[in-house]
Amino acid sequence: MILIFFGPPGAGKGTQASLIAHNFKIPHLSTGDILRNKLLQKNELSTRLKRVMDKGQLVSDDILNGIVSNRINEQDCLKGFVLDGYPRTMDQALFLNNILNSKNLKIDKIIDIYVDEKNIVKRLKSRSKKENRQDDKEEVIKTRISRYLLETKPLSDFFKSKYPSDYLIINGNHEIEKITEDIVEILKNVNL
Ligand code: AMP
Repeated sequence: MILIFFGPPGAGKGTQASLIAHNFKIPHLSTGDILRNKLLQKNELSTRLKRVMDKGQLVSDDILNGIVSNRINEQDCLKGFVLDGYPRTMDQALFLNNILNSKNLKIDKIIDIYVDEKNIVKRLKSRSKKENRQDDKEEVIKTRISRYLLETKPLSDFFKSKYPSDYLIINGNHEIEKITEDIVEILKNVNL
């Protein structure tokens, strides 16, 4: 099963993507986590990445496409995977489309989590305290939300019109467990 999660920063998409991946025993591919891991090695690339990520800007498509194509080629992705945080731009979406076509694979479901803006800011501020993420500071949150609206939201609209019956819109204002239940319930009925 191949799933893509969409949603603004703070929608809980990382949390849900991880829980759903666990539930269906497939890998959770979070590009944010992969990039944050790269920051732990101190080298020229990590310095460049940190500069972009701390500002809430997007890392280049070339870097992301390379990361994702390598990861998807790993053995554990043969049974499917959950993409979280990718694709974020049209270039990435086209690249993903090409890789999947070349492997004769298709996206099974796209899960778009929406959440009220007041909840987004509340959640990101509390995460900022807990995880000490540099990009959860208030001014950076604003940039990340605007990148999302500018680049990623049109992309989710594109997927919605391309795969209308596989596009699931989920209310992310509920408690974590309730959101997971809602997603599992829908995926249970999917013919794969
Ligand atoms: P996330 O954890 O998904 O919110 O990602 C954290 C940061 O990593 C983002 O604000 C971007 O700087 C970078 N990032 C993650 N995924 C992507 C992507 N698909 N394209 C570009 N930048 C990304």
